[in-house]
Amino acid sequence: MNERIRLGISTCLLGEHVRYDGGHKLDRFLTFTLGQYIEYVPVCPEVECGLSVPREALRLLGRPDSPRLVTVRTGKDITGQMLTWAHERLSGLEREGLCGFIFKSDSPSSGMERVKVYNEKGVPVKKGAGIFAGAFMEHFPLLPVEEEGRLHDPEIRENFIERIFTLHRWREAVSQKRIRGTLVDFHTRHKLLILSHSQKHYHLMGKLVAHAHGIPLEDLYGQYESLLMEALKLRSTIKKNTNVLQHMMGYFKKDLTADEKKEMLEIIGQYTQGHIPLVVPITLINHYVRKYNQTYLKQQYYLNPHPLELQLRNHV
Ligand code: SF4
Repeated sequence: MNERIRLGISTCLLGEHVRYDGGHKLDRFLTFTLGQYIEYVPVCPEVECGLSVPREALRLLGRPDSPRLVTVRTGKDITGQMLTWAHERLSGLEREGLCGFIFKSDSPSSGMERVKVYNEKGVPVKKGAGIFAGAFMEHFPLLPVEEEGRLHDPEIRENFIERIFTLHRWREAVSQKRIRGTLVDFHTRHKLLILSHSQKHYHLMGKLVAHAHGIPLEDLYGQYESLLMEALKLRSTIKKNTNVLQHMMGYFKKDLTADEKKEMLEIIGQYTQGHIPLVVPITLINHYVRKYNQTYLKQQYYLNPHPLELQLRNHV
């Protein structure tokens, strides 16, 4: 990939002192590990909409589906100020080529979900979204979004990173000359990755690509992108990955010796039982792809969807 992936991020997660108390919420994985592959576009809604550092803490008040953003001590309502700023900022972000956004959890401005919303008696329910985060998700419904807290879960982290890397590759494909061949090539390389998330989408997208000639190009690209993002949002599971691994074994029918076949079946079985992480059968298959020069599998992003250094697919 030529350019770095661009991701929006809540500014305090990068260690900037923008929190209401003058502090930050540096996330070392996001800043230093994932950050090697990402160009972050930091957004601090509270500071950017005109509030100072330090400032009075804020909270959400009212109905969880349309809360107000209010200062905790003096009860000043800054919902309008925040929304006016957000409207402009979101238009600006359209030009940033973002492949996703990482939000700071629990924040009344930046939290993606389960943010506390207080009723008039001061009792909270954890059912809200931060005002900016909510507006962002409405504005960019297809973009992958996550919170730093949820990204500590290895499965959620893996899924999010897979989505942003795939969207980045898709953007690169889209930036080339829009011809059906480009889309067919992208789809061919991502078939098994899509299958590992959703068999239904695998079939739908296969049909779409097969009938590509009857669909105007803009529609074709638009429909494909929606299905791609929808598919990857569905979490891959041990069962789905086992299906893909078995499917890949079929490509070696004429190549593997009896011993190699036995070993591969054993390894896939151990993965299915939850004894070893996905990276083990994948490494073995990559080995056979190289050994037997398996040209179809060689081009499959499923076997190398993101940099090894991120140590994903390593959990059981
Ligand atoms: S949570 Fe959001 S609003 Fe609060 S300091 Fe971080 S970036 Fe700014």
